[in-house]
Amino acid sequence: MTLLASILAAVLSTVYAHGSDIPNLDTVKTEINTYYQSGHYERDVSNVDAHLKSYVDARLKQGVRKPAVVFDIDDTMLSSYAYERAYNFAYTERTWSQWERADRFPPIEPTLQLARYLTGQHVAVFYVTGRREPGRAITQHELTAAGYPMPIALYLRPASDTAASVIPYKSRTRAAIERQGYDILASIGDQWSDLRGGYADQLYKLPNPMYYLP
Ligand SMILES: [Mg+2]
Repeated sequence: MTLLASILAAVLSTVYAHGSDIPNLDTVKTEINTYYQSGHYERDVSNVDAHLKSYVDARLKQGVRKPAVVFDIDDTMLSSYAYERAYNFAYTERTWSQWERADRFPPIEPTLQLARYLTGQHVAVFYVTGRREPGRAITQHELTAAGYPMPIALYLRPASDTAASVIPYKSRTRAAIERQGYDILASIGDQWSDLRGGYADQLYKLPNPMYYLP
């Protein structure tokens, strides 16, 4: 290489486009797989769940008349990681419902233990999901098969709710629970949209690097 050519090569090697600031999709998928398969994900969930448990324990000691905790379902109670991995992080309604019918969404173990502990302490548990109302029977079946205790109520998003975000539906549902006299001590979910909109004393956000729901 001549001197001129090597100077040109050095200059060319610094050519840079802003698009290269965007994380590389394949690299991100590898990082996500490592996060789940290394046990790091489950440790993070366990840590958030432990904070919820300590908070509820402290509130129960002070005396609460009708204590309640609200759980989201997907990637809070049931893991969709194996599904996402099997389909290379490309959700479709068809593959999702096949996976569902085959009972292939396993419980997220720390959250399963948490739900069992809370019901043992006579805390009312409510399951509030963005899954649509026609999916009630299969959802109830999956939760029971995973070993979750029966909730006071299972809420699914009405098929007629076409809002861009789940926040209005989920917060309306928590408001309705509190109108029944329950005090929602904690709300736990993997999406910020599970938690925003009020009607819970403490919010517990679980990790989910796989998808975003408004
Ligand atoms: Mg979820």
